[in-house]
Amino acid sequence: MNIRHHFDDATLLAYSSGSLPRGMSLLVGSHLCWCEECRGRARQADCVGGELLEEIEPAELEVGTLETLMARLDDAEPEVSKQVAVADANPDSGLPAPLASILGKPLDALEWRRIGYGVQQYDLKLEGPGATRLLRIAPGVSVPHHSHKGNELTLILRGSYSDELGRFCVGDVADVDTEVNHQPIVDTDQECICFIATDAPLRFTGLMGRLAQPFIGL
Ligand code: ZN
Ligand code: ZN
Repeated sequence: MNIRHHFDDATLLAYSSGSLPRGMSLLVGSHLCWCEECRGRARQADCVGGELLEEIEPAELEVGTLETLMARLDDAEPEVSKQVAVADANPDSGLPAPLASILGKPLDALEWRRIGYGVQQYDLKLEGPGATRLLRIAPGVSVPHHSHKGNELTLILRGSYSDELGRFCVGDVADVDTEVNHQPIVDTDQECICFIATDAPLRFTGLMGRLAQPFIGL
């Protein structure tokens, strides 16, 4: 696997601090299974987070406060976060282990729902904020042009697509925020299956996008 697109530092710090929504955390953990480079950066992010915690003045902590703080840290930890950082890709399904264990079956056995021309969706139905879904897009089909109200993480599981940011192949992640306005187009040689997690709904631009929004429900 030749990974060329990775998370930005802010995403890895948020992952390390446990502040990402569950779906995004699952997506980051899945990429980490495949990407040694991001695993190293995630370890650095863990250290930065630890130092921030050490900067809290001990005098500020009253009796019982530390317990409360630790309990809060435990609560904030998404169930999927740490265990996935050490897990390996599941050789049976070709999927990263954290995602494979949540899906419970191979990609082709999922109950896909058709949501538009050449586009099928599988909603992981994780608790919000944001949405966690797989999109299965036929060769050559494009997703409507859209911008983002929040952050959108995409991990390519099969095939490839290209957009204003470059070409994305299996293992690559697209880490986009409100600055980005893009239109992914799937390469023509095979279908593309992407794992997408957002922390806010997408905002479609252009007439086709606005028409498609209530239909696709992205
Ligand atoms: Zn990476
Ligand atoms: Zn997008």
